[in-house]
Amino acid sequence: MSRFPAARSRRLRRNDSIRRMVREHALNVEDLIYPLFVVPGKNIKKEIPSLPKQFHYSVDRIVEAAQEAADLGILAVLIFGLPEVKSPVGEESYHDHGVAQAAIKAIKQAIPKLTVITDVCLCSYTDHGHCGPVGGRQEEFNVLNDPTLEIISKIAVSHAKAGADIVAPSGMMDGMVSSIRTALDQAGYHDVAILSYSVKYASAFYGPFRLAVDSAHFSGDRKSYQMDPANIHEGWREAELDIEEGADMLMVKPALAYLDVIYSLKQRYAMPLVAYNVSGEYSMIKAAAKEGLVDEKSTALESLTAMKRAGADLIITYFAKDVAVWLK
Ligand SMILES: [Zn+2]
Repeated sequence: MSRFPAARSRRLRRNDSIRRMVREHALNVEDLIYPLFVVPGKNIKKEIPSLPKQFHYSVDRIVEAAQEAADLGILAVLIFGLPEVKSPVGEESYHDHGVAQAAIKAIKQAIPKLTVITDVCLCSYTDHGHCGPVGGRQEEFNVLNDPTLEIISKIAVSHAKAGADIVAPSGMMDGMVSSIRTALDQAGYHDVAILSYSVKYASAFYGPFRLAVDSAHFSGDRKSYQMDPANIHEGWREAELDIEEGADMLMVKPALAYLDVIYSLKQRYAMPLVAYNVSGEYSMIKAAAKEGLVDEKSTALESLTAMKRAGADLIITYFAKDVAVWLK
């Protein structure tokens, strides 16, 4: 290897053209998945205060939001439903006429080519805000694993029935992928894929999202099912189990503070890997940009490119539409 002065790294950084020629990773509009929140009611498009420029849509307005994304070249949306009534078990989550199901149907009818991914969980449907029915010792406030599997399997089937292309279980329950795979296959939905929230951490970066899904009465924490931010080997095991159970794609959530997890998962498993650029990551940049501390566009693009560099194939991000415009 030659050394200075023969070697000069700056030769390849001289101008934009050369920099682009030697660029190793690129963010593309095809990499982006855009999250959408659907609420009961009519003619609603209401900004979510904790997530600037993101909205709650009623079913009749969500198609226009999905259409905007599709027109920008975005290939997939991720649907989160907020029910009329929350309950201890969250039954509304699997009703055929629930808001999420209605939104899936409306979007698939209007824009068949747009891939619809659905969040499969109970936390926005339960009155206590946990990802499944709770029980057991009060001090542990445990989510009951196996009863939750039965409910999320029903949710997945109801989403598939409404037209979902990919279901994404996010509750970190043991056995969630195999339960959902079995239920989907039994119902005849062999083609519906599972994107598993395989490595989801009990993170402080979900704050703005929690406000967006109105988990205001949430008490306790999710540490008995979501992962300890200090762990990585445990994440490999989680991913391995999901692959064995039939997951089609894996996810790491959050993204920015977990680039090492994304990197190591991509190195270990030949699976499509999704990074979730979560609400806290989004709103921090928005807030800092508003204060004039950082430039929104370059900070967002740098963060998302770092996720690609780490090994993410796809990124779920509230910046999706902005990025699509910026990349044009
Ligand atoms: Zn949940």
